[in-house]
Amino acid sequence: MSDDATPNTKSPLSGLSLTFLAPAANAPTEPVPAPELSGEAVSARVVIVGSGPAGLTAAIYAARANLEPIVIGGVVGGGQLMITSEVENYPGFPDGIQGPELMDLFRKQAERFGARIVNADVDRVDLGGQPFRLWAAGIEYHAQAVIVATGAEALWLGLESETRLRGKGVSACATCDGFFFRGKEIAVVGGGDSALEEALYLTHFASKVHLIHRRDAFRGSKIMQARAARHPKIELHLNRTIEEVLGEAHVEALRLGKTDEPGEETLPLDGLFVAIGHRPNAAVFHGWLETDEKGYLRTEGATTASNIDGVFVAGDVDDHRYRQAVTAAGEGCRAAIDAERWLEAQAALESQEAAPSKAGAAVTG
Ligand code: NAP
Repeated sequence: MSDDATPNTKSPLSGLSLTFLAPAANAPTEPVPAPELSGEAVSARVVIVGSGPAGLTAAIYAARANLEPIVIGGVVGGGQLMITSEVENYPGFPDGIQGPELMDLFRKQAERFGARIVNADVDRVDLGGQPFRLWAAGIEYHAQAVIVATGAEALWLGLESETRLRGKGVSACATCDGFFFRGKEIAVVGGGDSALEEALYLTHFASKVHLIHRRDAFRGSKIMQARAARHPKIELHLNRTIEEVLGEAHVEALRLGKTDEPGEETLPLDGLFVAIGHRPNAAVFHGWLETDEKGYLRTEGATTASNIDGVFVAGDVDDHRYRQAVTAAGEGCRAAIDAERWLEAQAALESQEAAPSKAGAAVTG
């Protein structure tokens, strides 16, 4: 987590331990007002869960629509781009930008319009009626509309030795841990863009990067494949599976299985980066929101609406096809617009129901 993302502004509300991210340098000079309290709960018209590109874009749009959103952004926050190095395909940055730096800009932009960002994980929800109720770090939030933008998290191989040696040479974050492997020999496992990107990034530190993939063809983009294939520090190992990570106190080697011929081989090295895909962070919404067979949240037709009226979904938590920062941001924008229109329609409905009809007034008058 960058220094800027360190929670450092305590809520003035006694008895509550809400923490907010520091206001951005270009934020309004007025202090960000504390959320409105109703009884024990913190109330907002819109609560956004997640602070990756989808959540923070939703926050920018919702804040500019005067919906005063609260973003419950996760303990770390920022989503997958916080563990991504160079982003070369986000429009507007012709020279590329580091993932954490891009997320910092998203956050500052959301805060500039008054979005309030809480560093906590949502651990329980009740979407059974209005207001929707969410709990995070012991605090209850009430919301008229909810935008779920919780993203997806890295998958692991599932080996006992991989778990045992996590943090001792096994990692799923090249940006976080690449530095520790300066001058060392390491491996990346996976055949998608993540693996190719991590392998290329790690060449800045490692003396050699072994890229291990279980099939004979990568699924990552052609341009990344070509870059990896011609990089002098990268050695490709196709048709290889990792059977065991060897080492006691730290990684010392990999035991590789072969899918194209019998036998095994041992590859001595100092580290392993796992880059084999992601799982949607939807567990807390199970039982409320519909998912597909892979566990990704479902949306209705061309909108971001979920199966529950007033709950909207954006970003990687519903997208296993595109999974790009720019598509997630686009979905965050759509979710905020959907939420705004839904809230307007609700308000119109309520005022219609509350006001006596002219015809009725004439009869009774
Ligand atoms: P992915 O495309 O789903 O690729 C996962 C890779 O890991 C596949 O090659 C898969 O093998 C392999 N794999 C899965 N489980 C495995 C296991 N248990 N053991 C060994 N290998 C395993 O995931 P991703 O690379 O994270 O990419 C996700 C999406 O984000 C993609 O759409 C990608 O284009 C995008 N992305 C883009 C960028 C960029 O443009 N800068 C960077 C990163 C990601 P198989 O091929 O055999 O299934």
